[in-house]
Amino acid sequence: MNPIDFAMACMLVCLKWRASSTSWGRTEKRNTLVKGFPGSYHLNWLGMDIVLDDQRKILEFEKDCAIFQIQALYEGNHYHLQPK
Ligand SMILES: [Zn+2]
Repeated sequence: MNPIDFAMACMLVCLKWRASSTSWGRTEKRNTLVKGFPGSYHLNWLGMDIVLDDQRKILEFEKDCAIFQIQALYEGNHYHLQPK
């Protein structure tokens, strides 16, 4: 999946599930600053952090992301999205 298709898929799930993006592409410097995983998908604009208006673990949301070829990883105060 390229970054444009990824962004489009993320936008669609965010619009459907009432979610906001809080982080997308990052430089290496920024990734280190926020204690991102080395080699993070954020470095290639293929990682996005989002917060649902009703932020909690929702299996139905995670299944819906999979339909858009996105893997949704619950990280407590946000979801990390990346290509499946
Ligand atoms: Zn992330």
